[in-house]
Amino acid sequence: MQMLPLADRYGRVATDLRVSLTDRCNLRCSYCMPPEGLDWLPSDEQLTDDEVVRLVTLAAERLGVTEVRFTGGEPLVRRGLVDIVRRVREAGPDLELSITTNAMGLTRTAGALAEAGLDRVNVSLDTVRPDSFHQITRRDRLQDVIDGLAAAEAAGLGPVKVNAVLLRGINDDQAPEMLRWCLERSYQLRFIEQMPLDAQHGWSREEMVTAEEIFASLEQEFTLTPAKEPRGSAPAELFTVDGGPGTVGVIASVTRPFCGDCDRVRLTADGQIRNCLFARTESDLRSALRGGASDAELAERWVVAMHGKAAGHGIDDETFLQPDRPMSAIGG
Ligand code: SAM
Ligand code: SF4
Repeated sequence: MQMLPLADRYGRVATDLRVSLTDRCNLRCSYCMPPEGLDWLPSDEQLTDDEVVRLVTLAAERLGVTEVRFTGGEPLVRRGLVDIVRRVREAGPDLELSITTNAMGLTRTAGALAEAGLDRVNVSLDTVRPDSFHQITRRDRLQDVIDGLAAAEAAGLGPVKVNAVLLRGINDDQAPEMLRWCLERSYQLRFIEQMPLDAQHGWSREEMVTAEEIFASLEQEFTLTPAKEPRGSAPAELFTVDGGPGTVGVIASVTRPFCGDCDRVRLTADGQIRNCLFARTESDLRSALRGGASDAELAERWVVAMHGKAAGHGIDDETFLQPDRPMSAIGG
């Protein structure tokens, strides 16, 4: 079968596919969605399990995708998740398969996910203080995340990565505490700069905690040395902590964008291809798929969608416009 790379006009080739399995979520992180939630996608607009498996399989077999991450919304609320993982694993024995999750219910599913062929999990956790956790997620579920992390590690879904977003006046003083907590458990912590992708459009450059601030805060307690492995297309700048072996990463998506090395492509829960988190347009694969398109035709549409990828997200440009859909709908 002829392999068509997902190349764009700037010489980048996408090999890392993020698949949103649902736009729904059981937390309400303030930087992501409002307390009342959002107008969720009608179920007939969401790709079925079979459709997801077909598109991911053709991406691996025809388009050179080597890594697949399931996300959302909250991927663990998708009933068919374990089955989807199993079928994608069968279709792509060499694929790197992971999920990004808030870990609600992970204690129950970690074992089944590992058995189905999942390689790793990334767990989002912004604080280890119950009061701050409630303030950020609007739910009292900190212990579920802590237990979920332990269950993932025990199930062999490691190295477990923890993603944290710092918010001014809420948890911006907790970076060293988070790092200590993760080092003690051998979790790999990565801080992510807050991006203008919240449904409420409440992001502001001034309020955002910058990578520079995060470094300054960490360096008050730890010695950070740039890790030897090259950054490549991995967005995190990685540092060894106090001589190792522990590390910490910082993903400075806003202040030090890595768009020039981006190797990602996204498939939304309703079957739209997005060539960038910040893209203003999407390409509708679902209609083509439901209209009877062959795998070869779907692959061709996907290639065309990638070709138009912009050089960068342009958050700092005066003309920047936040995408219509929030992170939870695009798939973070
Ligand atoms: N619900 C899952 C979770 O929280 O891990 C997966 C989806 S969530 C949208 C994926 C990641 O996006 C999480 O790590 C979350 O912290 C991050 N995220 C959400 N909104 C963000 C924003 N405005 N800026 C930066 N990261 C954000
Ligand atoms: Fe849900 Fe993840 Fe958004 Fe938090 S960041 S509200 S867990 S989708």
